[in-house]
Amino acid sequence: MGKIHSIETFGTVDGPGVRFVVFFQGCPMRCKFCHNPDTWKYDGGTEMSVEEIYEKFDRNRAFYKNGGITATGGEPLVQLEFLTELFECFKANGVNTCLDTSGICYTSEKRAEFERLLKSVDLVMLDIKSPYADGHKELTGQDMGAVVEFAKLVSEMGTPLRIRHVVVPGITDSEESLMAVGKLISQFRTLKELEVLPYHKMGIKKYEEMGISYPLGDLEPFDKEKVLWARQKIIEGIKHGKD
Ligand code: SF4
Repeated sequence: MGKIHSIETFGTVDGPGVRFVVFFQGCPMRCKFCHNPDTWKYDGGTEMSVEEIYEKFDRNRAFYKNGGITATGGEPLVQLEFLTELFECFKANGVNTCLDTSGICYTSEKRAEFERLLKSVDLVMLDIKSPYADGHKELTGQDMGAVVEFAKLVSEMGTPLRIRHVVVPGITDSEESLMAVGKLISQFRTLKELEVLPYHKMGIKKYEEMGISYPLGDLEPFDKEKVLWARQKIIEGIKHGKD
């Protein structure tokens, strides 16, 4: 059984086409800009079986003919065994699978289990929160080593990779930091797509409802008009990394 926070039956931003989006419960990261703090706790969520989730998907299967299933959270890799069984079931039924992850749970001891999972994943959408070890720790509360190792495994397995980067004013919006993201991800051979997102404050309401303080306080959103510039800097970094 998996611990599921919620299911969105008509997702349009979590992978190609219309997606059946499964939000896993539990996450070891504490990203300062997280807009799903209600998925953090390990003891929340609803217990669901692979069959229950598949039945729910199958009821509206026609919706997803150009899309598929996306596992997100929270952090789906926290429930590695269940996630693998879920994706194996969907793949066996011809459904496109996307994994939206921070990669933080990867360990080399569990490499074989991760390889098994990746055989059933069509696209990995990986967040790079910061290109710097100290910046990553400061922004997420966790070391970034596992993230990079996971991305390398994704590349080795030949699984297409979409990198996402949230640009946070004063934290990850300098030219140097953006170029460093590019340089870091230039080593991932299956990199196919780059998604650059402006930091926004829409999650703040959840923090208020949960009675916890919002770590980024009054920080203003990143100027949407500068997103193209930020993307260009990352692409420059990728080119430098490959030189
Ligand atoms: S990895 Fe995702 S769910 Fe976990 S804290 Fe970061 S943004 Fe939130």
